[in-house]
Amino acid sequence: MSADQFTDGRPIVFRDALVLTMDDSHDVLPHGDVLVVGDRIAEVGSALTVPDGAVEIDASGGILMPGMIDTHRHMWQTAMRGYGADWTLTQYFVWYYLEYGNHFRPQDIYAGNALSAIDALDSGVTTTVDWSHGLRTIEHAEAALQSLRDSAGRFVFAPGNIFGAPWEWSASADFQSFIRANDTGSDMLRFQLAFDVTGDPAFPERTAFEVARELGLPVTTHAGVWGATNDDGIRLMHENGFMTPETVYVHAATLSTDSYQRIAATGGSVSLSTESEQSCGQGYPPSWVLREHGIPMSLSVDTSVWFSSDLFTAMRSTLGADRSWEHVKAHEKGETVTHSHLRAEQVVDWATRGGAKALGLDDLVGSIEKGKKADLVLLKNDGSPSMFPILNPYGHVALQAGRADVHTVVVDGKVAKHEGKLVGEDLARIRSQAEETVEYLRSTLGDDVWQAGMNPEIPETKVLDNPYMYTEFRTEATHTAI
Ligand SMILES: [Zn+2]
Repeated sequence: MSADQFTDGRPIVFRDALVLTMDDSHDVLPHGDVLVVGDRIAEVGSALTVPDGAVEIDASGGILMPGMIDTHRHMWQTAMRGYGADWTLTQYFVWYYLEYGNHFRPQDIYAGNALSAIDALDSGVTTTVDWSHGLRTIEHAEAALQSLRDSAGRFVFAPGNIFGAPWEWSASADFQSFIRANDTGSDMLRFQLAFDVTGDPAFPERTAFEVARELGLPVTTHAGVWGATNDDGIRLMHENGFMTPETVYVHAATLSTDSYQRIAATGGSVSLSTESEQSCGQGYPPSWVLREHGIPMSLSVDTSVWFSSDLFTAMRSTLGADRSWEHVKAHEKGETVTHSHLRAEQVVDWATRGGAKALGLDDLVGSIEKGKKADLVLLKNDGSPSMFPILNPYGHVALQAGRADVHTVVVDGKVAKHEGKLVGEDLARIRSQAEETVEYLRSTLGDDVWQAGMNPEIPETKVLDNPYMYTEFRTEATHTAI
């Protein structure tokens, strides 16, 4: 079937899929059909009768799930993909916040966002929060937003500016009129306000919270980041009445019981970026403690300057980190974990429904139910030995499948990827824009700075003394091995 069959207005039916509905009861249909008419899911069932002219997609042998939802992605940084693979959070802060982030021009923000948008879609992410904190001028903000408008996908645009104080940029007339002009309540484009709370007792962030309230925007904030944001920020937010069910706390990895209780009591949720938390040092990935407090969770990739840009990796790293913690804590007490608490089903929920709830989009997306918007992902790859047998569908999504198995992606009823290929995307244009940004940054910074930034020094390491190193056996074994 060719992609040009997907003309606007033509219904689509997925036939004979293993359907993970992610509805309230997590119904699983072993041989399900899902009919899409316009931008909505018109019917979910089996052997459905469909309108004349509907395009049929053979989903047999595949898993049909809701489009995944990423609640925190610094899309503008995607043009620097993989550059900071060996960074710590300190090195990231120095490179982006203090030294070079202010070199990014509006067109560089545009290029990063455009690349990130198709990257997300390609991997089955249909809704992305653009945590866009590199917006030092309105022109940068306009470029970021235009890039989202020019991209397929559902977005929540969360503008911010790490080069200025939140209480200043949020209060500016230009910024507020930019938001008012663009936040039209579209189902394809929602808004949040993105800034962090330092814990300064004077609570200067009050102004930014008041702006958010005035503009009707939820706040998303990096919280519980070791060495950067801490319990004081949470306490100040709470004492001043700015913690709401719409608030998204990113990471929330290093907080006290008191802070977790304040988050739980006010109904907010946490965006877990497990790969990030494992590598950067915000704190141990906190799903284990959030579970203890009953705090809702969603997943995010954070930034592709370091990490994978798909939620398959987010699901498996989260599952792994949670289980690692449980085992280590048990071993410290001389005990053995015989039954894991966190299940694959739960991380699939966080990657879909959890994100929809966190973003206030649960009435629109996040599950496969009649009447919801048609944001769908078919995982099917008949040529892949890792796609059969499918015995435990949640386990298969969380630990077996990957980006290469994303066969079809539908956003708002429109096919964005089919038979493993993006539909209607100008990859060459997006690639040349990203390359132009890289070339500009590399030449502006100079080769030495560029290389030093990508290759941070390795601290001195010392191999521990080992008494066995000096025995005959070791010597002989070493020689034999060589
Ligand atoms: Zn972040």
